[in-house]
Amino acid sequence: MIEYVTPYFRPPSEGNSFILQATIGCSHNQCTYCAMYRGEEQKFRARPMEEVKQIIDEAAGSGLIDDRVFIADGNALVLSQKKLVDIMGYLREKAAGLERIRMYANVGDIIRKGVENLKELKALGLDMVYIGFESGDDVVLERIKKGANFAETVKASKMLKEAGVMNSAMVLLGMGGVERSAEHAEATGKLLTACDPEYVGALSLQLRPGAPVYEEWKRGEFELPDKFRMIKELEILVENTELTDGYFFSNHISNYLPVKARFPGDKEEVLRKIRTVLES
Ligand code: SF4
Repeated sequence: MIEYVTPYFRPPSEGNSFILQATIGCSHNQCTYCAMYRGEEQKFRARPMEEVKQIIDEAAGSGLIDDRVFIADGNALVLSQKKLVDIMGYLREKAAGLERIRMYANVGDIIRKGVENLKELKALGLDMVYIGFESGDDVVLERIKKGANFAETVKASKMLKEAGVMNSAMVLLGMGGVERSAEHAEATGKLLTACDPEYVGALSLQLRPGAPVYEEWKRGEFELPDKFRMIKELEILVENTELTDGYFFSNHISNYLPVKARFPGDKEEVLRKIRTVLES
């Protein structure tokens, strides 16, 4: 039996999915707010195909793979096209009821794949990828070493749309610190508008030991916006976000004001709710 390297992570919405740890860690592993894969044993590597097949065989044999699979860890789309096609093809062969496959993806990996490869993955079941946009402010993106800027994120999002793969975008309130709070919130809304993802998750930055930004905060080089400022950022973000038809969630445990909405229909109601809290 193949042991998974722990801890590993998945989006909350993948709670009912079989987690296939085809890679370990994150090939980028530089984002300054992220402490997820800093352990020595989590150093990025791809599992050999024989191991991946063994995991699938054992899980399928035990009835653990139902209709959903999430391929972990941090950015499984970094795998070569051939390997992803082999993995997804094998999954389909072994799990007859499989309906959807999802994974985290970095902007650079999406661009490197290109539309034709993405279409091939879509045909094999990839219906959505989760992307950490974090910010639309290029100054912030550079500071946090995201590895992608505004223009590249828009380019990747357009490629996903063309390939028919849904986009679930995560953004981080507070990531610009107090210093760039307003710029960060406004640019992030504009980025969401330009990318038009099907899902948006707005989380609040949490400072975690092990993440470089935590050290910056301890040295007094980074100031985390307070609760009021975080909610103000949410207001600016929503004001600047226009989605054709997308879900907007800000109901993570890290958030001060839970929002669960569908844009554009619910946008004005969400703004009313935020302003009521800000004025109270
Ligand atoms: S936030 Fe995502 S891309 Fe950045 S280091 Fe962490 S796992 Fe990797």
